[in-house]
Amino acid sequence: MRYLVGRYHEIALKGRNQWRFVEQLRHNLRSVFADVRLGKIRSEGPRLIVELPDELDDATACARAAGIFGVANFSLSYRVPLDLQAIKDAAIARVREHPAHSFRISTRRGDKRFPMNSMEVDREVGAAIVDAFGYRVDLHDPELTVAIEILADAAFVSAGKIPGPGGLPVGISGRAVALISGGIDSPVAAYRMMRRGLTLDFVHFHAYPLVSAASLEKACDLVAQLTRYQTRSTLALVPFGMLQREIVAGSERPLRVVMYRRFMMRIASALAIRFRARALVTGESLGQVASQTLDNLAVIENAARLPVLRPLLGMDKNEIVEQARALGTFETSILADQDCCTLFVPEHPETHARLAEVEALEARFDVDRMVADAVGATEVRRFSFPPRPENPGILGEYRDG
Ligand code: ATP
Ligand code: MG
Repeated sequence: MRYLVGRYHEIALKGRNQWRFVEQLRHNLRSVFADVRLGKIRSEGPRLIVELPDELDDATACARAAGIFGVANFSLSYRVPLDLQAIKDAAIARVREHPAHSFRISTRRGDKRFPMNSMEVDREVGAAIVDAFGYRVDLHDPELTVAIEILADAAFVSAGKIPGPGGLPVGISGRAVALISGGIDSPVAAYRMMRRGLTLDFVHFHAYPLVSAASLEKACDLVAQLTRYQTRSTLALVPFGMLQREIVAGSERPLRVVMYRRFMMRIASALAIRFRARALVTGESLGQVASQTLDNLAVIENAARLPVLRPLLGMDKNEIVEQARALGTFETSILADQDCCTLFVPEHPETHARLAEVEALEARFDVDRMVADAVGATEVRRFSFPPRPENPGILGEYRDG
């Protein structure tokens, strides 16, 4: 019988909230394996031990586990009786599947009734591996780690610790709305906040049918990719082109970008309140483009009704690109599109907007009506991971609740 042993940073388990952390992780594990019949999940000290069904192959089990935030590392383990010879045999069988040059044994004794302490087990099993394969013991930088967990009723043996994504379990920090543009930055920003335990709802502003549906399709694609980390997502698609036209007709060029952004903040705030989200997330990075100077960020944020979280604020473009590549969203993000912001963008946007000036300009518009119209015309798509045939991401009308 195979088991997934997930280990978390013990630090996350200190204090009164430890049971919430473990419960959330359990819940997330069940969700990410919702299409198979997962067995029991045991919580044992700083690890969770999950019974895997036979129909689930190793590669799928590992790929999905690699997306579960809160897990520092994990491995596929096999259960054996509490008997040194049985543990040795299992270790040898596991090492045979993972050829290496150097290795170490890492034993954790969760139950102190086992007659040997963890160092003794390390030594005995290590000697058996050296005998069988001739591999070198390396305690500091081994190619292969054989992990042995000794519990009250059984031992679990695995070879090869697979790095987990770390962070906090999705959902433990609450809910926020992420503004997803189809560019490189916003998916990275969303990922980083999910990794801090936020569940996200996504919002994308598009100018379809004034421009092609490319940005809209990219946003869907990106949200589908990000959904593997939280298993269910909603994406609100907000038609923004008519609103932009109205702004263009009634305002001077340089301030238009700041005004578009302020409307995005208002509309995203209105949607966030309906989604019961407590913050907005953007991919802004200080000074990256004209709209992201400190002055402009301040004026833009002023239109939001919720705190604006900007996890990329202090990162430069190269660092963000590197993360987008690692995340796997880069290729989608660089596909050509015309997002709503390429439409009606002035050549020389204002870099130091002043709030009073922007507010005076906005007084010419029926701001509340424009926001309500956009929210009313919003369509919602739903995504799930693992993908469900009955939930393929069909466009639906926006409905409360
Ligand atoms: P990105 O690569 O995320 O598009 P960017 O460097 O192009 O970022 P901007 O276009 O100024 O920067 O956008 C800043 C942030 O505003 C984005 O990261 C995103 O969170 C939000 N945003 C911009 N355009 C849209 C849009 N069309 N729909 C939703 N959010 C958007
Ligand atoms: Mg952009």
